[in-house]
Amino acid sequence: MNNFISKVMLFLVAALLVISSIGPSPASAWTVFKDIGAEDVEIDYLYDRGLIQGISKYEFGPSHLVTREQAATMIGRALGLNGTKRNTKFSDVNPTSYGSGYIQSAVEKGFISGYPDGSFKPSQIMTRGEMARLLSRAFYLTQTSSVFYADVEVNNASNSLYTAVNKITTAGISTGTGDGKYSPLQKLTREEFAIFLARSLDTKFKVTFQNATIAKLYSTTDNLNARTGPSTGYNVIGQIQKGAEVQVYGYNGNWAYGKSGTVTGYFSLSYLSKVVATPSRVMVIDAGHGGSDPGAVANGLREKDVNLDVSLRVERMLKAKGIQVLMVRRTDVFYSLDYRAAYGVKNGADAFVSIHANAASAGVSGSETFYSASVANDSKQLATFIQNRLYKAMEHTNRGVKEYDYRVIEANPLPAALVELGFLTNSGDAAKLATSTYKERAASAVAEGIEDYYEWKER
Ligand SMILES: [Zn+2]
Repeated sequence: MNNFISKVMLFLVAALLVISSIGPSPASAWTVFKDIGAEDVEIDYLYDRGLIQGISKYEFGPSHLVTREQAATMIGRALGLNGTKRNTKFSDVNPTSYGSGYIQSAVEKGFISGYPDGSFKPSQIMTRGEMARLLSRAFYLTQTSSVFYADVEVNNASNSLYTAVNKITTAGISTGTGDGKYSPLQKLTREEFAIFLARSLDTKFKVTFQNATIAKLYSTTDNLNARTGPSTGYNVIGQIQKGAEVQVYGYNGNWAYGKSGTVTGYFSLSYLSKVVATPSRVMVIDAGHGGSDPGAVANGLREKDVNLDVSLRVERMLKAKGIQVLMVRRTDVFYSLDYRAAYGVKNGADAFVSIHANAASAGVSGSETFYSASVANDSKQLATFIQNRLYKAMEHTNRGVKEYDYRVIEANPLPAALVELGFLTNSGDAAKLATSTYKERAASAVAEGIEDYYEWKER
């Protein structure tokens, strides 16, 4: 050791001696009692304030049980109530007993009422359930929240056990005994009592409750409401879609309280299932033109006929894939563009595909699929999945995925695509679209592109 370090050491030792001799050296509970450690900060906190004592000179007795008289005394002391020994309203509390004053003061404050037969049972061990009632009244707790314990039945009456347990949980005084339980009938130990009381007195000890997941259920419907309480009379605070998972924290009649994504609330059990439901897939197929509007006419073909023929094939193929299909038209009739654009939303569909055939100069061939960027949704992906299959199936030029505000897709709030199968004005494309082989191939490409889209969307 060199000279400098030894001087520093000497100084430090001297400084420590000074501090320990002049400091007010508060005796921590863990230095007094052999049966608690420095981690028992709540016991230390109460001991420092003279609110709790040992069961003997060197023992705190953390696992000893707490009688009702002891609990009333310690809470009365913590609240600064009058502890002068005196007569109480209870026949079984001796006026000369140590807790009589605190018991009577608690009666006067209204947080102790005793048993219906007029007794207080001072030497009976306090349960965790009784402690919840006592603390919630003694500290005038009023706030409740959505708290579930598997062993405390939900009962929103103001004097119920559930309400008392809910209040002390909401106040950060208890998080139960683990596994989603509160254990209301369990006898209260001195250590538990100290923790409860310290958390009631000082926010720095408070804890945050988290509901335990007791089941996982899945929505069987789209737009299932989450509500603030267990009936349709309560406000809607969110919605979940078919197939969404609900982590269930508890049940109340025909309602489950739980969390799904960012939504926490009550969901009707009528729409929850133990098995995952397939998300709904409802596609609108719009065969372009029709009736008085033939669309393009060339090489012996009318566009409205080709469109309807291919559309009916797409309908059959989608249904075989389990996709619901809503057909704007299934016969040679005319509908306005705005009617077609609004049709899907009006009927609960989730996407829209309009099927057309093209016209240009005779040399132009190939397929192309359009989307509109007027609404921010997955229209471009829908168009892309279809186009990627279509030109291959038609064995002609890939003219690509293009952005264009055709009315039926531009005015459509759903993801929407407009498919141009090929050019009726081109003899090669027209010859293909005249055969059932290529109409079947085109339809299959569109149907598979739609399936690709749903699988991507639900990924
Ligand atoms: Zn057209």
